[in-house]
Amino acid sequence: MIDFEARLSKVVGESAKKLEKAFGHRTVGDLLRHYPRRYIDLEHPDSFDELEPGQVVAFVATVLDVKKLSFRNNPRKFRVVVTLSDGRATMEAVFFNQYAVSKTPVGSQQLLSGEVSVYQGRLQLASPHMRELPEGKTLADLGRGGGALPIYPAGGGLTSWDVERAVNVALDVVDVFPEPIPTDVRSARGLLDAPTAYEYIHRPRKRSDWVFAQTRLRFEEAFEVQAVFARRRLDSQQRRATARPGRGDGIRVAFEQRLPFTLTEGQAQVAAEIDQDLADTHPMHRLLQGEVGSGKTIVALLAMLQVVDSGGQAALLAPTEVLATQHHRSMERMLGDLAKGGMLGGADEATRVRLLTGSMGAKARQQALLDIQSGEAGIVVGTHALLEETVRFADLGLVVIDEQHRFGVEQRAALSDRAAAADGVAPHVLVMTATPIPRTIAMTVFGDLEVSTLRELPAGRQPIQTNVVPVAEQPAWLDRAWQRVHEEVGRGRQAYVVVSRIGESATDEDAEPPEDDDEEKRPTVGLVELAEALAEGPLAGLRLGRLHGRMPPDEKDAVMSAFAVGDLDVLVATTVVEVGVDVPNATMMIVMDADRFGVSQLHQLRGRVGRGSEPGLCLLVTGAPAGAPARERLAAVAASTDGFELSRLDVELRREGDVLGARQSGVRSSLRLLSVVRDESIIAAAREAAVEALTSGDVPADLEASIRRLEESERADYLERA
Ligand code: ADP
Ligand code: MG
Repeated sequence: MIDFEARLSKVVGESAKKLEKAFGHRTVGDLLRHYPRRYIDLEHPDSFDELEPGQVVAFVATVLDVKKLSFRNNPRKFRVVVTLSDGRATMEAVFFNQYAVSKTPVGSQQLLSGEVSVYQGRLQLASPHMRELPEGKTLADLGRGGGALPIYPAGGGLTSWDVERAVNVALDVVDVFPEPIPTDVRSARGLLDAPTAYEYIHRPRKRSDWVFAQTRLRFEEAFEVQAVFARRRLDSQQRRATARPGRGDGIRVAFEQRLPFTLTEGQAQVAAEIDQDLADTHPMHRLLQGEVGSGKTIVALLAMLQVVDSGGQAALLAPTEVLATQHHRSMERMLGDLAKGGMLGGADEATRVRLLTGSMGAKARQQALLDIQSGEAGIVVGTHALLEETVRFADLGLVVIDEQHRFGVEQRAALSDRAAAADGVAPHVLVMTATPIPRTIAMTVFGDLEVSTLRELPAGRQPIQTNVVPVAEQPAWLDRAWQRVHEEVGRGRQAYVVVSRIGESATDEDAEPPEDDDEEKRPTVGLVELAEALAEGPLAGLRLGRLHGRMPPDEKDAVMSAFAVGDLDVLVATTVVEVGVDVPNATMMIVMDADRFGVSQLHQLRGRVGRGSEPGLCLLVTGAPAGAPARERLAAVAASTDGFELSRLDVELRREGDVLGARQSGVRSSLRLLSVVRDESIIAAAREAAVEALTSGDVPADLEASIRRLEESERADYLERA
């Protein structure tokens, strides 16, 4: 019997080694899940005059001309421009630094597939896949008697043809196909069964074949991932947690009474949801997401105090030292005498907030560890250092993770598992995202969490005005921008200037470079250079500070504090200020080389201003020319302050893999056909079906196997990175 677990070497012989080397495929299943990237519909081939930008096409064309051109600024780099004809019209394909392409024979017939783009007002194919059609063959000869030709992802010395041959051998001999989708789910949604789906995806005879096959396999991917999450949720309902219902006369109530503002409706509602979760004897697993500045921190603090009131401890895990330090400071400030437990001037009912970071001195660290272990510290704020073995909590009741895309599922698990290990009782977990994320991503990346969302901003918040400063066309606007900084400072306000890199090297930190295919990269300004120029020039006379990720922690801290208390007027910083930095008196931000930042990142950055009662102003400085994609991106950020809308846009502008980013662990890397951007309704339906399948108790064996496979690959992925 040959199933998906069978070794490839038993089935395809010699090719097995090459397939493993090229793609890492070891089993028949690996190979059969290597789906065609696209198909050539032999009945309806694409023709040039019907093409549109963004369209993914495949066609056969004749080569009219091949030109090899080098770049002016870098003679070692070159591009090859191939002029193609479909018999009626012509079109160009461009390839970068591919020597072999420059040898393409004029007059040869080529099979091309790729995405249509626009360059200098004309349609072209940039870096398409191109393969010569064997001499004397026509398209019809290539389709295996049917009307469609699969094009496979190639690479590692293997062409699409090679893959196709191996797939055909495997398809012919395999006799058991895994069927993780229960029959009733399949028939309710009109999905193909597994053997048919694999046949149709690899050997379609017509367009509808591969469309139906993709539909079924796409659903399967969503269904398996959601089954993993559904299982985790069910499991966590089986786990025990200590109920932390709080007290009517505790610190939380005292704190609420002295809050200088009333909670927004959204905050009150989410806080109530969390209250309820905490009072339960099953661990909470909740995601709190919200608009930048919507006041997530207060909500988290209320939850932490409720746990403290119930005799437990709460830990807040922050992604950077700057942020951890700031959280620590602002919590102590907000709590006042409520954070002076056992100290002179402390309230009758009070706790302590402790900070633990990797760079603390031995003595401070020792003191923190002691307070954590004795339970004296009710609230512990820290970075990764909190995850270390030496950190022992007296009674950890709640873990809050300020996620900011930087912590994965595994780290979340690490902290709560370790806390649980002692007595089998798990802490409650609250995850916060720094920027809003679209629903599909939330479901795919945080699918094991319940989701609470804060949409509104506190009342009285002035909207942030955002303008693009296009220095290429309007160089004088930049001078005007510096003048505005003087005006703000003159009114007692403060400003940020954000840069994309620190200094000498162009690859330093921090900005996520977007992927416009600029042939010549514009130079960017570094922090050191700019800070010096500003101090001597446009911002002379103002008190300037610098902040970047490579400064020693105590220096960083000193600068942040100085800015927070108003001893500095202007902070020139890298994206270390991106996450959660909160100085309400800062009203203006200038982002240099704004085109180097992603949409959500810019939204997060500008959320640093306009946090008080004064209107905020954000200027996006860019050298990108009018009409460039970067400019459209910036215009979008300027036009909208809706973080959910912008994050959707961000997702659309990036490639799938980048969306899931650092969190691309096992579960996510199993997605081949499913798009977390496009397939929202499929993901939602799959989630419902998965919950039903798992709670019914009648779980197909093949679904159990899929869940195990995904969980294992996630664990392996974690170990690899740890
Ligand atoms: P974020 O959701 O981006 O983390 P924060 O929690 O940092 O936002 O809150 C932003 C600012 O708004 C803070 O200065 C906080 O004290 C203030 N804030 C929070 N909730 C309210 C409210 N209900 N009314 C007024 N100000 C609030
Ligand atoms: Mg925050």
